[in-house]
Amino acid sequence: MINTLKFAAKAAGSNFADPQLPYKLTMVLTGRCNNRCKSCNIWQNQNANDSLIEDIERFFKKSNFFSWISLTGGEIFLRNDVFSVCKIIKDNVKDVCFLTFPTNGYLTEKILADVDRILGLNFNKVVVSVSLDGPLDMHNTLRGVDGSWDRALKTFCGLKAVKNRRFAVNFGFTISNYNMRSIGKTIESIKAAYPKFSLKDLHLNLAFNAERYSNMDNKGILCTDSDGLISELTTYQENKKLLDPISVIDYLHVKFLKRYIKSGRTPLPCMSLASSCLVDVDWNVYPCFNFNVKAGNLKENDFDLAKLWASGIRRAVRARVKAGDCPHCWTPCESFQTILGNMPRAFFSKRA
Ligand code: SF4
Ligand code: SF4
Repeated sequence: MINTLKFAAKAAGSNFADPQLPYKLTMVLTGRCNNRCKSCNIWQNQNANDSLIEDIERFFKKSNFFSWISLTGGEIFLRNDVFSVCKIIKDNVKDVCFLTFPTNGYLTEKILADVDRILGLNFNKVVVSVSLDGPLDMHNTLRGVDGSWDRALKTFCGLKAVKNRRFAVNFGFTISNYNMRSIGKTIESIKAAYPKFSLKDLHLNLAFNAERYSNMDNKGILCTDSDGLISELTTYQENKKLLDPISVIDYLHVKFLKRYIKSGRTPLPCMSLASSCLVDVDWNVYPCFNFNVKAGNLKENDFDLAKLWASGIRRAVRARVKAGDCPHCWTPCESFQTILGNMPRAFFSKRA
């Protein structure tokens, strides 16, 4: 409860001024991946590596002020020490409110076992997002691995069976040109396998070209029928019940996603490198996944993010974000804290 209040206070404060230190950290634990996605080429990097557990410990001992930590990859469950990473976080980051991670859901047994151990650490809230990009055949084609739909569903159902009020699981649907008219069919296919499924358990994000995804040349993923996509998103919004704060933020995410699709411009002043940052396996700090400009390196700053945060280079890159001198995007990794840092505009600007 205390951690939730601290998180709310930090998010509320970000409406008035940039936070002194970021409250959300997105940390890439590995560049390895066992899917073969059409919309992301991370898996093609044969030399991808993991961050070292010793460095992770050094980092969280020095940099322990986060309220929300998202562990990502690649596929983080390819690592054998995900529990140890979470234990380091639990031991050092006392204010952590949300621990979140995406997974492609392929390693079902390992994911269920790791999550079970992680829940034993008693975090305030752990949320796992399992990727699902369409009904069975479409998902398997887009993910490039036979059986990936069955495994993602099995992982989701296994995690749904976990009875723990501090835990939630949802599906993350990445919209690309290949599946943009299949949101409804995907929901039907999930319901056929898991009748208790509700829209509360589905989050939408858009595929982007980004150097980090090694897919800059793959323009085929970009949605060509904006009106069709906006109509799909409107149907999704109309059917989604606003039951809790996360549903409301997700609703606002989709509202502004429609605006982004029309304009290609980030619809609210971005809070990247103010409320949040991205750290990669080599300890470089970036604003986000899409703006590939380094704000510094943590190894060169004694793994002390506060020290790096005070540097001229971090301030200069933040100034570029603030000025909109970036590729512009709208992804849940960054949009949630951008919504939280622009509450009056997010709530009261007219419907998109
Ligand atoms: S989208 Fe995720 S699962 Fe697919 S290749 Fe990229 S990191 Fe792997
Ligand atoms: S608008 Fe998008 S690309 Fe630009 S800094 Fe924010 S999250 Fe990154």
